[in-house]
Amino acid sequence: MWWGAVVLIVGCQHSVPSGEPPFESTVAAPVLEPVPLFDGELPSEPGDNDGPLPSQLRITELARYGSQDTARIVVFLNRPASYEVGKLAASGGKGPRLFLDIAQATYAGASQYDVGGVVERIRLGHQAGAVRVVLDLRERVSERVFFLPEPFRLIIDVASAREGVRPASAKLGKEITRVVLDAGHGGHDPGAIGASGLMEKDVALDVALRAAPLIARELGVSALLTRETDEFVPLDERVARANAFNADLFVSLHCNASHSPEGHGVMTFVLDSSRDQVALQVAARENDASVAASTQLAKAMSQVMDTTTSRASIGFARLLQRASLASLSQDYPGVWDGGVRQAGFYVLAGAHMPAVLFEMSFISNPTEELRLESPGYRQRLADGVVNAIRAYKLGVSR
Ligand SMILES: [Zn+2]
Repeated sequence: MWWGAVVLIVGCQHSVPSGEPPFESTVAAPVLEPVPLFDGELPSEPGDNDGPLPSQLRITELARYGSQDTARIVVFLNRPASYEVGKLAASGGKGPRLFLDIAQATYAGASQYDVGGVVERIRLGHQAGAVRVVLDLRERVSERVFFLPEPFRLIIDVASAREGVRPASAKLGKEITRVVLDAGHGGHDPGAIGASGLMEKDVALDVALRAAPLIARELGVSALLTRETDEFVPLDERVARANAFNADLFVSLHCNASHSPEGHGVMTFVLDSSRDQVALQVAARENDASVAASTQLAKAMSQVMDTTTSRASIGFARLLQRASLASLSQDYPGVWDGGVRQAGFYVLAGAHMPAVLFEMSFISNPTEELRLESPGYRQRLADGVVNAIRAYKLGVSR
């Protein structure tokens, strides 16, 4: 069996839908084939679930990240589900619409939510044994819909199909003008914590804050941070912000950790399926989900990812490894090159642009924790990021 997407509604006050669902007839709608994101049982590990899946499929929450030309809608569910995606062209004074029918789902919440930008609003209602989620669009869009487990959620990414606003993947080979630096974790999520108490979230933010002004000043490239303070930002929101920024590159900054204090070195990850046990463990930790869920994510995403963008991600990851090790070696010889690896990282899923996750050293290793605590080491890491972007920019514009 395969797992389709599911779910839905957003936090906050829910009112019971009243009257007839505000949906148009879909008889003539070109309903697309269901998207087979998962082709097998979703594996689980002991402790992953508190019990059997609920029998009644329910939309539990909805998150909306809208912008002028892109949007991400996240529909949370209490269990996996099947869904179909369809589109309606503009007609009769109504704009184009994108809809999802979530089979056998129930929903008890507000019947519509405003978003703004390319997605004007979302409407929900029951229809023929399903819950239909309709996105009222300002204009035609391209869309990508995928399902993620732990927690179960359906992600709907849309981007304006208007000329000149295509996702960055379509702009590869042109000038690099915007970069997003994503400082991992934050707020109530400290990330990994070293033996002396150093927190991953603080190192990641400091390196991002060191690199951003250099990127702007030395490279003439706009740098956007997904967070500038010690605040929590959901994983699903980070790439949504990068997509909205129409970024040409997404760099997520993290510190590695392992059960053994021996683990050490610098690694860069891209999103793809993997049998690399080390990479799978890193992804599970960063996703705060099981290895099985992370594996399924990678498998699903590898089927829908744009190959040109994936290749560019690997190319930038190699530059980042080389540049960061060169930078570190000036003061810290012998830092181990853990190479470029691939696995299923939630934070990279759905990025319109080349995207990597940089594990800057092991906070669980006493020697590397000490280094990660020092301003000098952090500056070397930031310089490595800047130099990698410089090399990528030169290579792309060549
Ligand atoms: Zn992390």
